[in-house]
Parts: sequence; C-alpha cells; structure tokens
Amino acid sequence: MSQLMSHEQIAAGIAQVRLEIQRAAERSGRDPSTVSLMLVTKTVDSARVATAVQAGRCLLGENRVQELASKAPEVDRLLRVAGGGDAAGPKWHMIGHLQTNKVKALLGVPGVAMIQSLDRLALAAELDRRLLAMGKSLPVLVQVNTSGEPSKSGVAPEECLPFLRSLSAYVTLEVRGLMTIGAHTDDADRIRACFRLLRELRDRVADEGLSHVRLEVLSMGMSGDFGIAVEEGSTLVRVGSAVFGRRA
Ligand SMILES: *Cc1c(COP(=O)(O)O)cnc(C)c1O
Repeated sequence: MSQLMSHEQIAAGIAQVRLEIQRAAERSGRDPSTVSLMLVTKTVDSARVATAVQAGRCLLGENRVQELASKAPEVDRLLRVAGGGDAAGPKWHMIGHLQTNKVKALLGVPGVAMIQSLDRLALAAELDRRLLAMGKSLPVLVQVNTSGEPSKSGVAPEECLPFLRSLSAYVTLEVRGLMTIGAHTDDADRIRACFRLLRELRDRVADEGLSHVRLEVLSMGMSGDFGIAVEEGSTLVRVGSAVFGRRA
C-alpha cells in the first residue's frame, strides 16, 4: 500500500507532522522554527524519497551505509530529472550504528552532511584519519544511550562528558550536539525521562565550556514520541513511519 503513496499523501503527512511539532513547541513555550524535521528513509524507495524532498525540503536520515550509498545518488538523479530541488541536492545524516570498516564508503557518498551516531573513540579515530586524508571536516553528534537498553548503541550518560573531552584529539570532527533514542515502551514518563536526561547532559556539558564542542543540536524524537521530545527541548526530530507508513 505504502509503495503507492502519492505526492499528495506524502505532502499531507509532512504537513501533519509539522503541525504536531508546532503544537508541542507552543505547549512548552518554544519557537517552532527551532525544531528541524528529518525524514528517515530506511526501506523507502528512491522515488518516494525524491517526492518527499520536493514536498517538504527536509533533511534526510538513513541508518545503513549500503542503503545510503545506493539511494543518495539515485535520489539526486530523480530530482534533477524532475527539475526540482536546489542544485546542491538534499542533505543526508547517518543515524545508525556505524562500523569502522564502513567509514570509507560512507565518506564517499555525496550529500552526507553529518554523522549522528558517534559512540566510541575507535570510530572517531577512523573518521578523523579518513577525513584528514580527504582534507575535510564533518559535523557529528554523540549518541547517548539514555534508556540503558542493552540493544541500543551510544555512550552511557556518565561517560558523555569524558567522551566529549577525548574528542578534542580529532580535529576534523565538529561536535555539534547529542542524539538519543527514547525508551522502547508505551510509558510516556519513561520516554520523557530519556529526553530530559539528554537535555540535562547538554546543559551540564555547556557549563564545562569545552572549546572544541558547540552543542546546538539535540536530536531526539521519532514517529511515536516526537511531541514529547519537542516539549523536552529537541531541535531535530527523526520521523519515518509517520510520513511514509509502517515499514514492512
Ligand atoms: C528508524 C529510525 C527512526 C525513525 O523511526 P520511525 O519510528 O519510523 O519514525 C529514527 N531514528 C533512528 C535512529 C532510526 O533508526
């Protein structure tokens, strides 16, 4: 069914999510324009992604390098054929667990603008080594495991500050903020506690005044919980199924 989604359906889905972001921002006295919407396109075919970019001009997120590497050029091609979008093409963020042996392939994908899932020094070292060789730098977010669920990646909350300190050794990594995934539960209070913890960590790090980090991004909130995340200070929500339908 979702394969047949029309431009109108995708546009309506994006508009609905934007409305809910706006309402959540207003509930908590925040300016809605401080919250970016990322569309998560895993398992979504390139044609629908291109349609979504035309409808919503959003950031895009993928969690597997292979899928990103094949999809990004295809989406660019479709947008050029359609004559829409800006010349630079859409911006992609890597949001999934990243193996060090996939770093080279990832950095070769045009349009990759950020890695949100930096969670260990070995990965930082490999990214830095490759980026130095390319003469580039790259914005990154540090992923924090705020729920404590063993299935989730991310540094432990108490490791966040020491980890951020250690990143000063990697000059090509522009540390721009923190990312987390809320607890996998229907209990809104437990989900909220994860997002609140990420915000508190951000504030605590800001008090340290580390010169090599600028924590302006709090990436938190997915289809099921982005309203709570915005109430707790999210500046970037990552939404897939609420726009593209349930994944197979
Ligand atoms: C899949 C995914 C999302 C989006 O999930 P939905 O529930 O479909 O909105 C967000 N963040 C990450 C890290 C993901 O892997």
